[in-house]
Amino acid sequence: MNKTIRVTVWNEFRHERESEAVKKVYPNGIHGTIADFLNRQEGIEAVTATLDEPEHGLTDEVLSSTDVMIWWGHMAHHEVSDEIVEKVHKKVLEGMGLIVLHSGHFSKIFRRLMGTECDLKWREIGEKERLWVVEPGHPIVEGIDEYIEIPREEMYGERFDIPAPDTLVFISWFAGGEVFRSGCCYNRGKGKIFYFRPGHETFPVYHQPDIQKVITNAVKWAAPTDGPRLRMGHVPEPLEDIK
Ligand code: ZN
Repeated sequence: MNKTIRVTVWNEFRHERESEAVKKVYPNGIHGTIADFLNRQEGIEAVTATLDEPEHGLTDEVLSSTDVMIWWGHMAHHEVSDEIVEKVHKKVLEGMGLIVLHSGHFSKIFRRLMGTECDLKWREIGEKERLWVVEPGHPIVEGIDEYIEIPREEMYGERFDIPAPDTLVFISWFAGGEVFRSGCCYNRGKGKIFYFRPGHETFPVYHQPDIQKVITNAVKWAAPTDGPRLRMGHVPEPLEDIK
């Protein structure tokens, strides 16, 4: 039997407290909605952490018991302490999975891991988004149709200033004409990272079953594996007898 995957869903949790419109869509916060659907899955145990908790809810104890972290942030990226970002970064390199959602493209942790500005075009008029699957054999799209439609979303358009993904799983089309690389996989150290575009706070995107399925699949894909312990640095003794 597979080991339980321990997920920490991190959210800055500001829009839901400051805007009635957002509170209506996510009464328990975006983190609450995501943790709820993950906890209905066998083999996944999700807890939540938010910006205004001590150490942003990401204490050493929480970090050491997290296999996969999910990150949603938007208006308060600059309030996330560099010290915590450093710790999360180290955990990713050691093998923790990281799923960065929507406006998390501008989070300190994502920019640190990408090494680029991660800027993009955007427009907020509630237009249709269609996410096309471009890597149908990938575990993140298991059980997903050829495309996913979101009736009303914020538009993100290219160019998205990221390094070329190791694997690109989704490309989005927007009714206004733009396209976007909306499902991007990366390896950093022993860790796996998935950037998934949908999830503007005023639209009920994380209540959509196919979006929940993608995030659930991504958690399973990003979970650490029991790979070899590597030795780095000077290796004075060759494995073979060299004359
Ligand atoms: Zn947004």
